[in-house]
Amino acid sequence: MSNIGELLRRYQARLALVSGMTAADARFEVHLLMARVLQVNRAWLAAHGDEQCAPAALAQYQDWLERRLQGEPIAYIFGEKEFFGLLLAVNADVLIPRPETELLVELALARMPVGRMLRVLDLGTGSGAIALSLAKIRPDTQLLAVDASAEALQVARDNARRLQLPNVEFVQSDWWRRVPVAPKFDLIVSNPPYIAAGDPHLQQGDLRYEPPHALLAGAEGLDDLQVIIAAAPYYLAAGGSLLLEHGYEQGGIVLSLLERAGFSAVVTHRDLAGQERVSVGMATTNRPADAAP
Ligand code: GLN
Repeated sequence: MSNIGELLRRYQARLALVSGMTAADARFEVHLLMARVLQVNRAWLAAHGDEQCAPAALAQYQDWLERRLQGEPIAYIFGEKEFFGLLLAVNADVLIPRPETELLVELALARMPVGRMLRVLDLGTGSGAIALSLAKIRPDTQLLAVDASAEALQVARDNARRLQLPNVEFVQSDWWRRVPVAPKFDLIVSNPPYIAAGDPHLQQGDLRYEPPHALLAGAEGLDDLQVIIAAAPYYLAAGGSLLLEHGYEQGGIVLSLLERAGFSAVVTHRDLAGQERVSVGMATTNRPADAAP
């Protein structure tokens, strides 16, 4: 039988070899998985490398490592992912929440004064990451979270229940199809699919395991952004904002789509990696929602 230190070294080498990740990343991951199996922190592992791994723990560790070696994302193996301080359950029916999406949450919060009873719509909620973060930090806000996928909505609903966030409602809707036309929203947020079909990133890393309908948006990656932008002015109260996540090369085109749809004060924000990631526009007029395209 191997001791914990030997197991970690052996799997680190295998993971680095199979995945092509750096030795440091592979080391981090094998420790992360082992720490979770043994329910200890990573500092404990450093001090207990000479201990034996109990058979049940070893079996669990090997199962998880094999899945990771196949390329399955750690978030799906653990069944959870932290986002904006919330621990969200995730599975292969939903996109894994990304740190860059926290920028969208921060920008939304900056437009949600404390104590105001706002109505906020999250289009394509997935695990509920954006809607639930906003609901948690602004309990006075009424959130509507929609997704076309019944399976994704189940994940989001379960997260809302576990996190005890009663101020979020859920509706199954293919973008605007079943979003009520009144009353209007003060804020609309979305992290839609925006990757172009054939983008080589789709064959790399976690994306291979994520639901394609949460990633892919036509030849240019713009199909869903266009649908959202075109109708959003009809669902927003005058002075309300639309906040959209998009690809790092889509800032310019999203800005012009927003301007063409009549949005004002249009601006693109960069994420922590310095990439153009979220664009925002303000609705100027109050348009009748039943006239929406
Ligand atoms: N930001 C994700 C990625 O490129 C894509 C998420 C999305 O399509 N909304 O990995």
